[in-house]
Amino acid sequence: MPRTRQQNVTAAQWNANGSALGSPDLTLPGNQVFASNVFSPVVQRHRLPKHVYRALQKTLARGEALDTSLADAVAQAMKEWAMEKGATHYTHWFQPLTGSTAEKHDSFYGPAGDGTALAEFSGKELIQGEPDASSFPTGGIRATFEARGYTAWDPTSPAFILENPNGALLCIPTAFTSWTGEALDHKIPLLRSMDALSGAAVRALELLDVQDAARVFTTIGCEQEYFLIDEQYYFERPDLLTTGRTLYGAQPPKGHELDDHYFGSIPERILAYMLEVELELAKLGVPIKTRHNEVAPNQYEVAPIFENSNVGADHQMITMQILQNTARRYGLLCLLHEKPFAGVNGSGKHNNWSMGTDTGLNLLEPGDTPAENLQFLFFCAAVIQAVNKHQALLRASIASAGQDHRLGANEAPPAIISIFLGAELEKVFTAIEAGKVQPSKPGSFLGLGTPVLPPLPLHGGDRNRTSPFAFTGNKFEFRALGSSSSPAFPNTVLNTIVAESVDELADKLKDALKGSAATLEKAVTKVVKDAWTANKQVVFDGDGYSEAWHKEAEKRGLANLRTTPDALPWLVNKQTIAAFKKYKVLSKRELDARYEVFTEQYAVTINIESETAAAIARTMLLPAAVRYLNELRATGLEELIAEVEPLIKELHFALIKLEDANLKDNQPDSSPQKWAVYMRDTVIPAMDDVRDVADRLEKLVADDLWPLPKYSEMLFIK
Ligand code: ADP
Ligand code: MG
Repeated sequence: MPRTRQQNVTAAQWNANGSALGSPDLTLPGNQVFASNVFSPVVQRHRLPKHVYRALQKTLARGEALDTSLADAVAQAMKEWAMEKGATHYTHWFQPLTGSTAEKHDSFYGPAGDGTALAEFSGKELIQGEPDASSFPTGGIRATFEARGYTAWDPTSPAFILENPNGALLCIPTAFTSWTGEALDHKIPLLRSMDALSGAAVRALELLDVQDAARVFTTIGCEQEYFLIDEQYYFERPDLLTTGRTLYGAQPPKGHELDDHYFGSIPERILAYMLEVELELAKLGVPIKTRHNEVAPNQYEVAPIFENSNVGADHQMITMQILQNTARRYGLLCLLHEKPFAGVNGSGKHNNWSMGTDTGLNLLEPGDTPAENLQFLFFCAAVIQAVNKHQALLRASIASAGQDHRLGANEAPPAIISIFLGAELEKVFTAIEAGKVQPSKPGSFLGLGTPVLPPLPLHGGDRNRTSPFAFTGNKFEFRALGSSSSPAFPNTVLNTIVAESVDELADKLKDALKGSAATLEKAVTKVVKDAWTANKQVVFDGDGYSEAWHKEAEKRGLANLRTTPDALPWLVNKQTIAAFKKYKVLSKRELDARYEVFTEQYAVTINIESETAAAIARTMLLPAAVRYLNELRATGLEELIAEVEPLIKELHFALIKLEDANLKDNQPDSSPQKWAVYMRDTVIPAMDDVRDVADRLEKLVADDLWPLPKYSEMLFIK
């Protein structure tokens, strides 16, 4: 039997994970696993001395620093708890600028001196670690000869235990800094940005007559899209293995034209997988809520209930890890790349985002009373202003090589950042602008004939799936994140620019409140009106996928940064540096470092892809085509030979150009930006040309000779 056919037959077979399917009876209290592997507040209350527990809770509620003298007690309790759960090692778990998580395991045990081992874990080891960090990207912040980097415990994200068939590991979420105290990770700036936003929002709330909020948290809930394919195909494809995406593959006869996959019934093997993923995530305290099929064949989505941005971002990293680990137990491979298959929808991450007080108020909830409406309009206007001012930066915050294939392609938001508000809300802002709203007697708010804002549709048809930044009833959904990316950086940007904008509007509100005739209603209405008028250009409720929008956006002067090298320089733009400096989120040096690291990552990623593409073409595709040509020659059927032979020549020609573009000597090395631009303008087109011929050959060459599994197999056999 031809090789791939054999593959398909085995790929179509599967076993429910050791028949364990459905074994835990969740109606039994003992089987409730939620957060069973988390050093949660409940566990802390049981295990910590009272005064330590209280101090720790204060840290969690207010973001205050923990008195380090209490750390020994916490470490002791954490170690005992973890060892009872079978953990033998611990790690500081952190998020370097690679975009993934990092861990270095240390055993709890040390030699006792008498030939036995003693379990030890001190407060010092809990609070600070010093991994040899010379190999993490730093963007020039730390020379490799001064390799010291520190990890510092983040008590606001609970420690957790990762299980493995052969043991367990205590993971302690930590921040990662250089010895000079500069951020080398994604967590530190995120935490700083949450503080910035909290400060600004609490001040604004006081002006808005809400006096009881001590802290405002930003919240996120990330909908994660992913593909699952049988692992046999994955290991047959050097491109998937090395780059996470298919560099070759002709379009299958069937794609998602029939719309038969979206929200379709979930295949049993996939559902079995999802159930186990959710069970594993539940143990880790990740509150998964939703699962469904996505639009593309073999594409799925999982979403949690929202949490504060820091914990939500950590949980998102864990979610991606568990999605990938669990897949292997079902003979599947989970692809998190933004565009694993050309011509088929890509995968993104929808970052639902809001701001909420420690008293339980969602600041983006329109509310039921005029006062709540005022507050909502104020914060909503602040978001609109921030997004308009920093559109290009937001675009930069989600830029990556993978994203460049996705943004603006099938079913993905365009590279132009705009806001969708929904017809009802847009009407309200327009009325305020036109002065049609006469704030008058209390109770007759906005003069729209209703005492409060018209009810805004939370769910249902009034959705714009084409918008990169959409208001969805009580939160904004930043829909343009890449599926494989950490949500930390985009949220850092979002929090910082909104903090800046809230502060600016708060200053204006303060001014408007001066004078005896001023009422809060009048003052807020004026501030909102001005902010809307100045920033409404970023609001768009039409079809973001259309050509017309590109033209219209250009007329409006909105940024359209199509590729990563276009977008990333905005990380070090003047107004970015000013905002990040003002709120002490990232210094210029830290921003420079990120710009350099991300630019290099882009270029390196493409370099790996282009070398893989050349190797596959040279050593797999060309030989297959030549063999086929030989077979044809043996038949003497000139018409068939004439079909194949020119394509082989074309492939060879394109391949030589690609190999030439890949030569280090031909690539600029004076700056990461120049290298990135070369990759975009010279290497990617050369890769595309090779692929173009190869995909045509795939449709000609005998199936049993073609060395790569095809789209029609990978995407449909499950
Ligand atoms: P849809 O696919 O229609 O956008 P989902 O139910 O799949 O909706 O996802 C909605 C997401 O929004 C969930 O992850 C949810 O937790 C999150 N979310 C809801 N309220 C908030 C909020 N206040 N802040 C942040 N995220 C929120
Ligand atoms: Mg959504």
